Amino acid sequence: MHDKFVGAHVSASGGVFNAPLNASKIGAKAFALFTKNQRQWKAKPLDGETIEKFKENLRASGIEPKHVLPHDSYLINLGHPEKQKRQKSLDAFIDEVRRCEQLGLDRLNFHPGSHLKKISEEECLGRIAEAMNITLNETEGVTLVIENTAGQGSNLGYKFEHLAYLIDKTEDKSRVGVCLDTCHTFTAGYDLRTKEAYEATTKEFDEIVGFDYLKGMHINDSKPPLGSRVDRHHSLGEGEIGWDAFKHIMNDPRMNDIPLILETIDDTIWAQEIRALYDLIEG
Ligand SMILES: [Zn+2]
Ligand SMILES: [Zn+2]
Repeated sequence: MHDKFVGAHVSASGGVFNAPLNASKIGAKAFALFTKNQRQWKAKPLDGETIEKFKENLRASGIEPKHVLPHDSYLINLGHPEKQKRQKSLDAFIDEVRRCEQLGLDRLNFHPGSHLKKISEEECLGRIAEAMNITLNETEGVTLVIENTAGQGSNLGYKFEHLAYLIDKTEDKSRVGVCLDTCHTFTAGYDLRTKEAYEATTKEFDEIVGFDYLKGMHINDSKPPLGSRVDRHHSLGEGEIGWDAFKHIMNDPRMNDIPLILETIDDTIWAQEIRALYDLIEG
């Protein structure tokens, strides 16, 4: 028995029901997926047969719904400065949440949004929070999981304070959470490499956001260095972060019972990376 649930962002090509099968093949105990093509606005609705097949394959995989962390489309920007484009994003986001509901999944991971240098950070965060509240009112059972970002371009979510601000503005706090991406955390300027740095960063996170809100993590090494605000993932141990940080995570009970998802660049070694992470558990 272990309390860590490690997996990867697997392919759902051919149908969402293929994702649990792809997860099983690499020995994953958790997984992420896109429930529609992440580079297109429109998707055909999930039909009953697809939904049943997904649930059946998920049961067969032995992976619990709470260890599945769907990721929303990259096109969505809930903080868009233009009214019409913001509405388009909001409509697509609500559709994504409904797809999770239909699949029996309880959380959706999303990137907060970008101000595109047209509005202030605070104004942009306000729009994102408003969109989250509208979405929560129109849906049920799915927690909105805000991913921290590297802060590349005009993307918000690179400071723990941004995550805390969005949680603070969310009316239903039982349906909001965060996902920490180790690459984004590191390139946003929060060190994780030594035990001391790891403790300082997690303490800061706990004080500003709170571990109660942690609903998933993305486990990635980083090509760019600490604080570079550039988002480029790397295979574990190959980048600037290194294995020690992942050892700290795998032995930290605060990361128990949440999906820990690889988004590393070489999917042919995911099975190896999952085993290597489990091997880091001490005692
Ligand atoms: Zn992401
Ligand atoms: Zn990520």
